[in-house]
Amino acid sequence: MKTVIVYDHRYTEHETSSLYGVHPERPERVSLIANHLKSNELDLLWLLPKQAERSDVLRCHTSMLFDLVERACQTGIEYLDPDTAICKHSFDVALLAAGGVLTAIDSVVGGNRNAFVIVRPPGHHATAERSQGFCLFNNVAIGARYAQHRHGLERVLIVDWDVHHGNGTQDIFYTDDSVFYLSLHQYPHYPGTGSRTEEGDGRGRGYTLNVPLRAGTSATDYRSAFERALSQAVNKLHPDLVLISAGFDSHKDDPLGNLLLDDADFAWMTNQLKAVAEKYAAGRLVSVLEGGYNLKKLPATVAEHVKALCD
Ligand SMILES: [Zn+2]
Repeated sequence: MKTVIVYDHRYTEHETSSLYGVHPERPERVSLIANHLKSNELDLLWLLPKQAERSDVLRCHTSMLFDLVERACQTGIEYLDPDTAICKHSFDVALLAAGGVLTAIDSVVGGNRNAFVIVRPPGHHATAERSQGFCLFNNVAIGARYAQHRHGLERVLIVDWDVHHGNGTQDIFYTDDSVFYLSLHQYPHYPGTGSRTEEGDGRGRGYTLNVPLRAGTSATDYRSAFERALSQAVNKLHPDLVLISAGFDSHKDDPLGNLLLDDADFAWMTNQLKAVAEKYAAGRLVSVLEGGYNLKKLPATVAEHVKALCD
């Protein structure tokens, strides 16, 4: 029973910087995290990711989007939208990113303790039909559908603590009552969605919970909001699997956000979610890297998260 880390150096081959300058979502993010974790004396099981299949991706995205991303990378297009840079390897790396989540899910279903996936490109802004906001395919969403389809885990709770609202994940599960999407995020902020009134539709009404927070919200207020929202989510859906969209750009030192979380707050949230996973989901918990752009702070913050997973 170990905590699993899924990582592959090929995640650095999605090269996003260009003549126009250095992109904040850059390859060093994941290599620095991996090196830092390796230098810690943590008892971790390192696994290489498998590549997601087309059929895995099409549980969440249109075939039009899948083909568009593949062709754009082959033909040397540099941007899918003004924020989303790509290179010729990006399509393959995006499949490996989604595949990393699938490998992690297989490993926790197979009896490992829990898992963290050090992955890029990130995923939570990718909707069924569109890549955007640094994201090509929605890694966490693809993982949730895979867990249901492959392993018969019927109810999935996704908790997204990235500073940005995961509009893509919300979009994919908006009318679905088998996946609960809970997001705490700075608001108003990119991408503009994530108000309280967005709460799902049809059968999915009540299965999307947005907690918009003003820039400068204190960590104490954030924790109370997190606790309230998590208990509301769990009252509505008893999860068979907990997934974390783990964005570390809600850290106080991140250049892309204005929330005030510190390393200890991420460890605290990790423990809250571990408790939920243990109570309902036989401990099954998979955390997936989303944002986090302060290269000096990110590796140490992630290490606190992983230590909490291991404890
Ligand atoms: Zn973010």
